[in-house]
Amino acid sequence: MATLPVMRQPPIRPALEAIPTYKPGKPPAARDGMPTYKLSSNENPYPPLPGVLEAVSGAASQFNRYPDMAASALYDAIAERFQVPVADLAVATGSVAVLYHLLQAICTDGDEVVYAWRSFEAYPIAVQMTGAAGIQVPLADGARHDLDAMARAITDRTRAVLVCTPNNPTGPAVTEAELRDFVAHVPPEVVVVVDEAYREFVRDPAVGDGSDLYRERSNVVVLRTFSKAYGLAGLRVGFAIAPARLAQAIRKVSLPFGVSQVAQAAAIASLRAEDELFKRVEALVGERTRVLDGLLESGWDVPDSQANFVWLPLGDHTVGFAAACDDAGIAVRPFPGDGARVTIGEIEANDIFLRAAAQWQAAH
Ligand SMILES: *Cc1c(COP(=O)(O)O)cnc(C)c1O
Repeated sequence: MATLPVMRQPPIRPALEAIPTYKPGKPPAARDGMPTYKLSSNENPYPPLPGVLEAVSGAASQFNRYPDMAASALYDAIAERFQVPVADLAVATGSVAVLYHLLQAICTDGDEVVYAWRSFEAYPIAVQMTGAAGIQVPLADGARHDLDAMARAITDRTRAVLVCTPNNPTGPAVTEAELRDFVAHVPPEVVVVVDEAYREFVRDPAVGDGSDLYRERSNVVVLRTFSKAYGLAGLRVGFAIAPARLAQAIRKVSLPFGVSQVAQAAAIASLRAEDELFKRVEALVGERTRVLDGLLESGWDVPDSQANFVWLPLGDHTVGFAAACDDAGIAVRPFPGDGARVTIGEIEANDIFLRAAAQWQAAH
């Protein structure tokens, strides 16, 4: 029997083998004669504001040119809005990219990064691709971060701790007192990443801004994004507010020309249009209250949400529930064996979801 030659192929870093694949929220299945809605990706259901569209079309007429690599106008606008020096900012193609860059800048083989679980599914990928190990600390009651356990999980190898507040996909936010106490227990060599992708949806007055802590500590990095409240998910812009050393390290490893001129223009226009955008956020927060109340009324036991989604802890029923919602024309985001995350969307979409959830509850 002839033996096949051993095939030689380019090696791929072993660290990549265990990296899970990011599963995006699916669009709804098309249903004959029935409206369908995508409540699976925490997107903003409102179409772009006219002023933002105008800024985008203006910038689009020049896409034969590279964007302003320094993104100077965008940096200036963010610095003014958040009252931080430009040197303490790092802009990239979404705050997920900012996180990837940050971890790439501070982690290597053998290091550890602590984060809650379940939390944002990009975290294991962002951590493991650096060669570091992810130390997952189970959520406490109410699907909240267990910050005491997270502080105890810090070792000599820990380079960063990721705090997702409000937590994607479960919804609760960390209070200012909890965060302050936690940061006081983290050694100054360990970076605390406060991922505030949903900050604009928070209404609990006990929840603070990560940026207050960034002003007091040399190891706190705040992540913000234009993808959710600002409605620019498809354009890819996010940023870090960080001590200059860390901000500069993030910039160093960022892709050159990553943030397009169109995205820069849209982000600047969105900051100028905050009054209008935040009215939309307020309406979504109102819908969140209505959806949470509706779920509680029909007998669901759901955690608080300070974000633009709700979490149904369905365990083994998760996939069945997602299928039932899909039959009703609603795509939700199932995490099999754990629960389903449902984005707050258009009023009609939320109505259909509430009906489907009530029917499910009555039947189970
Ligand atoms: C959506 C989200 C982000 C931001 O994503 P980008 O679109 O890359 O800015 C960051 N963190 C969490 C927890 C999110 O849910």
